[in-house]
Amino acid sequence: MQLDNLYQEVILDHYKRPEFKKLSETFSVRVHHVNPSCGDEITLQLSLDMQGEIALTWDGIGCSISMASASVMAGLFNGKSLEQTAPIFEEFVTLMQSKGAATGDEDVLEDAVAFSGVSKYPARIKCALLAWMAFKDASVQVQGQVK
Ligand code: ZN
Repeated sequence: MQLDNLYQEVILDHYKRPEFKKLSETFSVRVHHVNPSCGDEITLQLSLDMQGEIALTWDGIGCSISMASASVMAGLFNGKSLEQTAPIFEEFVTLMQSKGAATGDEDVLEDAVAFSGVSKYPARIKCALLAWMAFKDASVQVQGQVK
């Protein structure tokens, strides 16, 4: 897989020093997702505080793309509200489905633009999306718990 060097570096950085990769003691929702085509697994925990701010922790095992993507997403989403994550989520999924045609909006995606090259490799898209789909699942469940 040939990715832009700078982007490659961002991904490897997150893989080596993942953010929020430590499951917390307290959480509202815990989900476990697997990507059988690559063998990636993630456990993701999600809570919302009184202000509706996201607290997200995760743990997992898998390829550099899947783990780096989880780290980038956790960095982007922690401290935001679910409403604030929606456009970022949309932009990332659109980017992943672009088959290499889109470059991604860096203002929205920040470090997640590093995965833009991944969309050219159908087998790796599920790796990049694993954590994001786990988050989507958890966010639906956590909203079901509110009220
Ligand atoms: Zn993978």
